[in-house]
Amino acid sequence: MNAMPELETLINTLENEHALDRADLVKLLTCEEAFPVYTAADRVRKKFAGDDVHLRGLIEFSSYCCRTCFYCGLRAANNKIKRFRMEPDEIIECAKHAVSCGMKTIVLQSGEDRFFTINELCSIVNRIKCMDVAVTLSIGELSKSEYTALKNAGTDRYLLRIETSNKQLYKSLHPGMSYKNRVRCLYDLKELDYETGTGCLIGLPGQTPEMLADDLLFFKELDADMIGMGPFIPCAGTPLELQDGGNVGAVLKMMALARLLMPDINIPATTALGIKDSGGYEKGLGCGANVIMPNMGRSEYKKLYAIYPGKGEGITNLENQIEAIKSTVFKLGRSIGRDYGNRKRLSDNHSV
Ligand code: SF4
Repeated sequence: MNAMPELETLINTLENEHALDRADLVKLLTCEEAFPVYTAADRVRKKFAGDDVHLRGLIEFSSYCCRTCFYCGLRAANNKIKRFRMEPDEIIECAKHAVSCGMKTIVLQSGEDRFFTINELCSIVNRIKCMDVAVTLSIGELSKSEYTALKNAGTDRYLLRIETSNKQLYKSLHPGMSYKNRVRCLYDLKELDYETGTGCLIGLPGQTPEMLADDLLFFKELDADMIGMGPFIPCAGTPLELQDGGNVGAVLKMMALARLLMPDINIPATTALGIKDSGGYEKGLGCGANVIMPNMGRSEYKKLYAIYPGKGEGITNLENQIEAIKSTVFKLGRSIGRDYGNRKRLSDNHSV
């Protein structure tokens, strides 16, 4: 290892103890020698999460959203985009196709669309659970009773990114939303025994390495089961459209540090990473990631789910998309997961 002696010590501590304080995390976030951090994360991933890469079939079923997040193309105030909302039967058809392609998890994602009632969502979850897969929802902030109903309907996991754990930055980017309520949602989900996913955007205007270190500590404190992180990509029709975007190196560093801090969680190589860098999936898998989420929605809708530019483009054939992902995985000497891909907790690993 060629890292400076102090960095080498920090990486060793993180690799063996999976803990580090804020100041030391900042040192690793800002060090130029990223490679030793990446390779340590890859070793920890192999040891605790194994070589399997879990494919989760993503279905984006509604692009309507009542929120106005400054960075997102789906924000309610963006009237330049065409919106869509899938019928329940269309969602089920996509799920069936994803299952026939080997997906063991179906992820249903939408903007915060108040059109669907909780009962309708429960019925959709129920129908997908009959296909013998895990179901993940990513549909935003709800009340605890609504989360309870969806859990009782069979939902296994829930994704809700905190986006940034810095209260000031959060407030400046999310008009009308409450940081406190977002955190409440995440702790409700944990309490209800969902596998709970969260994550952040990297490269937001005004974001500092200290804030990113706090994000990592927030994830650890929550005991998140999944962490999804991607670069901020400026999107036309949003207040941040002229800002600079986040860079891939910073995302890879955050993924690697998340793996070192939380060795047994699931970490996806996100779509945004794949869009920002044509080798993004491969790089992400080398920095701690063990999940990829192929978009299994209908092609006419994919482009319309325009949270940032470039999303949904170039995906014409689902089977080809999956084959391309598999070939990336195999090239790295990794395998495709055949089970549901739940978090394999450290304690479970130690009991075998
Ligand atoms: S980030 Fe999510 S909640 Fe915010 S505007 Fe976009 S879809 Fe809506």
